Amino acid sequence: MSSVELRGITKRFGAVEVIKGLDLSINDGSFTALLGPSGCGKSTLLRIVAGLEQASGGQVVIGGRDVTGAAPAERGVAMVFQSYALYPHLTVEQNICFSLSLARAPKAEQKAQAARVARMLQLEPLMGRRPAELSGGQRQRVAIGRALVRDPEVFLFDEPLSNLDALLRVQMRLELAKLHQELGTTMIYVTHDQVEAMTLADRIVVLDRGRIAQVGSPLDLYNAPANRFVAGFIGSPG
Ligand code: ADP
Ligand code: MG
Repeated sequence: MSSVELRGITKRFGAVEVIKGLDLSINDGSFTALLGPSGCGKSTLLRIVAGLEQASGGQVVIGGRDVTGAAPAERGVAMVFQSYALYPHLTVEQNICFSLSLARAPKAEQKAQAARVARMLQLEPLMGRRPAELSGGQRQRVAIGRALVRDPEVFLFDEPLSNLDALLRVQMRLELAKLHQELGTTMIYVTHDQVEAMTLADRIVVLDRGRIAQVGSPLDLYNAPANRFVAGFIGSPG
């Protein structure tokens, strides 16, 4: 079953078309990477799925529901940003609970949900701290926790690890892979990093200037790149 379907998506900013009639079907429970160089339209596409940006044309279907005009909160998605986007004046626990407090969930339930998420992400000792008192890796873990607490149908990640140093990036990759294994939730992961896409994703969508250049498993792309762009970008000899 497909979890996210994009049908004929276009996006124009003024006269410039940055997404050019894109069709994509993402399987339920898959880990899909949207891979491509800077400026190819990855973030725009992810924001269209999240409802943070409206497409100029086409349809977005999530879990069989047409959500093209729906608000972000009504889509069953949660997004993790590169910049973390934490609230500096709130503690880790309050940051994690923020969406639940907006939804007026009972305090006891908020606490229980925050504890569940903290356990999964090893944030328990940090619950009382504020973002300024955390390392980059810890902040990114809180940002993931904030998405996790909403129990989304689909996780959207926009280059979540690119502000971290190399060692931490490797560690966080393993944590994300583990999280996907444990939850089995659909994940869509935007990156310009081939290695990251190859190691995390079961399916890679290569974007080239607002169009899909190729869709396939990491091995497919490596062994049989569809064209010179993909070959050059993946770094295989083809
Ligand atoms: P990527 O995430 O792959 O680096 P983006 O989706 O951010 O690419 O951007 C794709 C193209 O759209 C770029 O040329 C960018 O300059 C342009 N763009 C993105 N957002 C806006 C905006 N709000 N207004 C005008 N142009 C934009
Ligand atoms: Mg981007």
